[in-house]
Amino acid sequence: MKLIVLERDGVLCSPVEEPTGGVAAWQALPGALEAAARLHHAGYRVALALELSGLGRGLFDMGSVQAMHAQILGRLAALGGRIDAIFFCPHAPEDDCDCAFPSGGLFRDLVERYALEPEDVNVVSSTERHAQAAAAAGLRVHGVWHADGAAPIDATRFDSLEAVVNHLLAATGR
Ligand SMILES: [Zn+2]
Repeated sequence: MKLIVLERDGVLCSPVEEPTGGVAAWQALPGALEAAARLHHAGYRVALALELSGLGRGLFDMGSVQAMHAQILGRLAALGGRIDAIFFCPHAPEDDCDCAFPSGGLFRDLVERYALEPEDVNVVSSTERHAQAAAAAGLRVHGVWHADGAAPIDATRFDSLEAVVNHLLAATGR
């Protein structure tokens, strides 16, 4: 089984600022949903991993998160794509949990649930925290860096999810 784990904001959707966390308004990044659909067609299971500390801090509720995710899934389904699962940390910083980035707990849990080896799981990150968490759990990180800053970890740098997908599918002959 092939699994790829995407950061939501900055990979599928435009990066958004707290406190809404993108719940109120979101925009798909150009070509991102199409690229995710191609992964599904190529036999990948596609999961999301993200932090929703705004839940723990009371800035938004689960209903608005689910409404946003339903919109993303609906847009993706219209392209023939699918998100297999959405993993998230709902805790506030003071909860001191193991699943908040840059700790690797969320990714370790995800790998365990799919019964895969960490190094067999591809991750697409757009933020340093996400990339560090995935790397801490031993997953293979591909970076989509929008900011002008340097790539924070030793990850291959791409301009978009589409570029990552082109790379992965070319490597596997699909
Ligand atoms: Zn957490």
